[in-house]
Amino acid sequence: MTRIGLEIHCQLTKLESKLFCSCKAEYRNLEPNTNICPVCVGLPGSLPMLNKKAVEKAAMISLALGCKIPEQIGFFRKNYFYPDLPKNFQITQYNAYGPTSIGSDGKIEIEGKQIRIRRIQLEEDPGRLVYEGKSMLTLVDYNRAGTPLVEIVTEPDFETPKQVRVFLNVLADLVENIGVGDPYLEGAMRVDGNISEGDGNRVEIKNVGSFRDIEKALHFEITRQQSLVERGIEVAAETRHWDEARRITVSSRSKEEEQDYRYLPESDIPIVNIKSQTVNKIKDQMPESIVAKRERYITKYGIPAQVADVLSSDRFYSDLFDKSHNEKNAKEVSNIITTDLMGFADTREKKLELKISPQHISDLADAITTNKITRNSGKLALQEMVKTGKSLADVISSLDLGHVSDVGSIEKIIDEVFKEEEKAVAEARQNPATINYLVGKVMRKTKGKADPTTTLEILRKKLSS
Ligand SMILES: [Zn+2]
Repeated sequence: MTRIGLEIHCQLTKLESKLFCSCKAEYRNLEPNTNICPVCVGLPGSLPMLNKKAVEKAAMISLALGCKIPEQIGFFRKNYFYPDLPKNFQITQYNAYGPTSIGSDGKIEIEGKQIRIRRIQLEEDPGRLVYEGKSMLTLVDYNRAGTPLVEIVTEPDFETPKQVRVFLNVLADLVENIGVGDPYLEGAMRVDGNISEGDGNRVEIKNVGSFRDIEKALHFEITRQQSLVERGIEVAAETRHWDEARRITVSSRSKEEEQDYRYLPESDIPIVNIKSQTVNKIKDQMPESIVAKRERYITKYGIPAQVADVLSSDRFYSDLFDKSHNEKNAKEVSNIITTDLMGFADTREKKLELKISPQHISDLADAITTNKITRNSGKLALQEMVKTGKSLADVISSLDLGHVSDVGSIEKIIDEVFKEEEKAVAEARQNPATINYLVGKVMRKTKGKADPTTTLEILRKKLSS
């Protein structure tokens, strides 16, 4: 049996400042080593100050994953030597004795399977190494050093790489929904997977940046371990990394044990007491959960379960939905967002570029439900609105998308189609099921503007006469 456990590093990208100093938490797109201070590069004599908001956000993740929040949390020094770690230790949390990490003993259900969360800890991210290919130089950028990170450790409850991927998607949506991070930013969610076959040794795959790659890496690793076992060779306990280019895992070093890190209490940061009132206050501040949102969409608006799934799991689009709809057009608004809008803007960058206001979406839904515009034209109108930010009325007139529903004009077009499509007309007289072909021709001639119901009625009348 395959057993997989995960350690997920999730950046708290919505914070203003780093975990222990007032440098900016946002380190991306800055000149190297410009977002640093004595604290985050660990100069002698500098003293860290814990960012209270980071503790609150980490507590939110803990609560969302059903973890217990302890009455006291504390910080530890995890000692190791690596050029991206300026202090030669990382300030993190550790459950040894006394004050513990910000969360433990949680669970989350995915596809009917329960995944237990062992521990959630708040810690600092190290800096970044930049490899200069040609010159063989390795440079170091400390802008990221000290930015707040939450590590989520699961029990080895996964049996397949696919379960892992589903879980990671659910987790990413959850982190985005509670407004603590932006998991779809590059490097904002990194995964270590540990994996073992039967009673064999555990192998850890370190620091995989994309969910697709962790799934592939785990697949590779299962095959590798199973083939070793079949040949009677013991799987070595080790750390491996995922070589993206070659699509294999490669041995990087023998695995460290916990004692290798020489955990020491971080005496520069006092123990933090967390009162139950504080936990209750944080609970009150948490936004509606994805599960509750989904339920509301189904029961209150009659939105089909599949559509409600897609809509509720995306914070950006569910916010847009909640701001756009009224009592009458909710279902149509959900259609527009999940079928059309999500199709145009399927990446984070494209989402941010959308020039759409909730009013525009609501207007469009009203126009479609009252037959002022066909669904096809609606799609074109939406495309234009998100590109230009223009109102629906402006877009309809500039693109000439007005609805054709008067019988006279549709009859004229049908007459044209009848002349051009004699064979299809004869066939439709024999076999009414082929009528859709003719409907399609009318739609093409009117660029999708003809009212489908009227078109069908007139077509049927003409065919039977
Ligand atoms: Zn700093």
